[in-house]
Order: sequence, then C-alpha cells, then structure tokens
Amino acid sequence: MIIFWGSKGYTKELGHTQTSIECGHCNNVEPWQIMETGRKFTLYWIPLFPYGKSYYVSCPVCQYGHEIEKSEIEKYLNY
Ligand SMILES: [Zn+2]
Repeated sequence: MIIFWGSKGYTKELGHTQTSIECGHCNNVEPWQIMETGRKFTLYWIPLFPYGKSYYVSCPVCQYGHEIEKSEIEKYLNY
C-alpha cells in the first residue's frame, strides 16, 4: 500500500498595525501587515496540521519586513 503524504506552504494574514509605518525600502507610509507563514502536513492531499510557523510584519506595498516572535503579535496588532 502506498501512502501519499507531503506538505504545503501557506500564508495567513492576522491583521495589521493601527499606526502607519514608513517603509525603509519603498518609502510608502501604510499600516503594515502581520502575517503567519508555515507549512501544512498533508495526507492524500488533505491538509492536516500546520508546523514550522513563523510570523512577520511586512510592508503591504513591497512586502519588505522582518520576522517577529509569536509573543510580539499582540504588540504589533495594537501598535
Ligand atoms: Zn515597502
């Protein structure tokens, strides 16, 4: 019997900052996005559970940004 398993990358938007931030890359002033990215373990192409999560704040215009800790998400959502 062959078991098909694999993984799939995903990105989820968690929200955005309350304050506009000037991007050091494209100079646009916008609220930045807070993103979760990771991979989902799949069995027979059905996504089962996520792993390897990481969190980012990024500029919505050019996607420039940096990684943050899970504990910092609240702080950025209220920034
Ligand atoms: Zn930018």
